[in-house]
Amino acid sequence: MRTALVHSDAYKRFDYGPEHPLRMERLGLTFRLMEAYGLTRLPEMDVLAPAPAPDAAIGEFHTEEYLDVLRAAGAGAPVPHAYRYGLGPGDNPIWPGVYEASALACGGSILAAELVARGDATRAFNFAGGLHHAMPDRASGFCYLNDAVLAILALRHHGLRVAYVDIDAHHGDGVQAAFYRSSDVLTISTHERGDRLFPGTGAVEEIGEGPGRGYAVNLPLNPYTDDAVYLDAFDAIVPPVLRAFAPDVVVAQLGIDGHRTDPLTHLALSVDGFAAAVGRILALAPRLVALGGGGYDLSNVARAWTVAWALMNGVTLPAELPPAFVVDAAPYLRGRRTLWDEAVVLPPEATRPAREFAGRQVAQLERLVFPILGARTARA
Ligand SMILES: [Zn+2]
Repeated sequence: MRTALVHSDAYKRFDYGPEHPLRMERLGLTFRLMEAYGLTRLPEMDVLAPAPAPDAAIGEFHTEEYLDVLRAAGAGAPVPHAYRYGLGPGDNPIWPGVYEASALACGGSILAAELVARGDATRAFNFAGGLHHAMPDRASGFCYLNDAVLAILALRHHGLRVAYVDIDAHHGDGVQAAFYRSSDVLTISTHERGDRLFPGTGAVEEIGEGPGRGYAVNLPLNPYTDDAVYLDAFDAIVPPVLRAFAPDVVVAQLGIDGHRTDPLTHLALSVDGFAAAVGRILALAPRLVALGGGGYDLSNVARAWTVAWALMNGVTLPAELPPAFVVDAAPYLRGRRTLWDEAVVLPPEATRPAREFAGRQVAQLERLVFPILGARTARA
């Protein structure tokens, strides 16, 4: 089995500005932790730098009008009505080179997809990708171009059957929308419930339309969902649905903003719980294209994606963070010296509603989606 890590120093061009929660340091920090653990020079892996996605590939999902606006905005041209395209002060600021940086992230995810489709790698990881909110005609939720959709389309061009699994704390709305009427691509998203968190969608009743009915699966979760609640709900839904669909390739969006210290969300996962979910996805994926995603506590981002990459390579890491990295990343680590999180026990008044809510969503999905997909309930 060969693996591929897609990375480029040019990813530093992702600069949303000093006030934005999506910090440009996150990708470099992650790569440096992987390096410090020796995970960038394993015998059966390649580190590959992407080229920007060609306009034709980007145009398979995004409208020409929006791409013209995004290009012009990033080049400093005045763009009237930028807000119509989701652009402007706030979530999706306009910054120099925004189009080129976004196209590079798309190129990374397409490269990962092509490597896997051609059999050059069994598992490929572009942790700059996973920008799952971008819509055909507008930016949304820190995402300008939807690399996840483009990776799936690249795999589809090879005739592959694709399941998308999104464990970011936010609903994977842009990817769901792209394939909402298709039975060729199954989308699964676990996320904090839409009435508590952006983008507001991802209710359990959103199951696809027309020929795609049953091929969109949403598992919304209550605030304070911890590892135990999350993994029980995950196990009840994701393995049965994936087994029934039997994909050739899984595209996984591995956002780590469901972590309990993430400043933007209210879930209560740990790196340990995240790793357990990634391990389950790996066990169910004949081939894997892994993408990054959200994550706004930088120490979590670096640790989680390093752990994910280690799992993809079958490597067990020492729990002590490498000393050089502890020095390097000191401003973000806040005294932390270990890869894993210390156990936190939430009070029952927090976890009980989370467990009850998750149980209701699982029961709904078993009723709404399982019969269409021919999935079997995980419980006896
Ligand atoms: Zn997110």
